Amino acid sequence: MAEVLVLVDAVDGKVKKPTLELLTAARQLGEPAAVVVGAPGTAAAVKDQLAEHGAAKVYVAESDEIAGYSVAPKAEALATVAQQASPSAVLVSSTAENKEIAARLALKLESGLLYDAVGVDGDGQATQQIFGAAITVTSKVRKGTPVITVRPNSFAPEPASGAAEQVNVDVTLSDGARAAKIVDTVVEEKGSRPQLSDASVVVSGGRGVGNADNFAVIEKLADSLGAAVGASRAVVDAGWVPHTMQVGQTGVTVSPQLYIAVGISGAIQHRAGMQTSKTIVAINKDPEAPIFELADFGVVGDLFQVAPQLTDEIAKRRG
Ligand SMILES: Cc1cc2nc3c(=O)[nH]c(=O)nc-3n(C[C@H](O)[C@H](O)[C@H](O)COP(=O)(O)OP(=O)(O)OC[C@H]3O[C@@H](n4cnc5c(N)ncnc54)[C@H](O)[C@@H]3O)c2cc1C
Repeated sequence: MAEVLVLVDAVDGKVKKPTLELLTAARQLGEPAAVVVGAPGTAAAVKDQLAEHGAAKVYVAESDEIAGYSVAPKAEALATVAQQASPSAVLVSSTAENKEIAARLALKLESGLLYDAVGVDGDGQATQQIFGAAITVTSKVRKGTPVITVRPNSFAPEPASGAAEQVNVDVTLSDGARAAKIVDTVVEEKGSRPQLSDASVVVSGGRGVGNADNFAVIEKLADSLGAAVGASRAVVDAGWVPHTMQVGQTGVTVSPQLYIAVGISGAIQHRAGMQTSKTIVAINKDPEAPIFELADFGVVGDLFQVAPQLTDEIAKRRG
């Protein structure tokens, strides 16, 4: 069976959930083989997790230099593995960095590239949703090894046992790959909430929240569910929350299992960033709000009445 390469995203020795989703998706296309690109020791920390999610092989491209550069060395190392393994496809999760890696990889392999797939089938066809998810497209790469970026939360990660046979790959960086070096890294301070782009539950607040202080209502509801917190652009423009929390056409695209829109009207630009969520719940006092056209479940009511009651009920049920 042909191998399907999956680029591994890991932080502090923990494989990120989108990578586990890709290992599950890869099983539809062939035999999953994980590719770890990073500083020495990266693979040792994550190998068992990859084995538990079906990786038959783990290609290890480690070098002290890789961590000191931006995307170019990673694309080069991944291309080396792809040339060695002749896979039937290469899957990477759709982050900004990975999309750049995927583009560079496709160029190096002279292959077709598909962005932001939300589904991949056994024939190598990818499903994409475009124009604010108004249109679903099915595409297939016709030249070279398909390189496909897949949106987080498009697949549920399923454990499966894999041999995780380690294959070490020599990494010799070209001068081109060393052209841009990272000179400083500042880690953004994060709370305990999951990251918006790959969270499985997102609670977003809109202008209906009224002001920055009231946004705590949204945060409390999110925390009761272990969810990430998002916002509409109106809230960001008002300066109540940072732009990193904006969901929509000019913000983050999310595709969680559950999206709760609170006090959000459902403008097309907001929908563009959340329309592919599996289940959408809307809380809005206006029964005519467009968000209800999209919602699987809707509550017509004042968010200051509904959201705290919902938070309490969830807390009660979770014990
Ligand atoms: C080029 C461009 C790009 C854009 N990109 C984005 C984007 O990325 N993301 C984005 O979100 N928007 C984006 N917008 C803006 C978008 O068009 C809307 O203006 C914005 O989404 C509206 O935000 P909102 O739903 O929070 O506010 P509103 O449209 O003002 O809706 C507020 C809602 O809250 C409800 N409400 C009020 N009080 C309560 C209450 N007490 N209880 C319950 N409900 C209540 C109201 O009924 C209303 O439906 C973009 C616009 C443009 C032109």
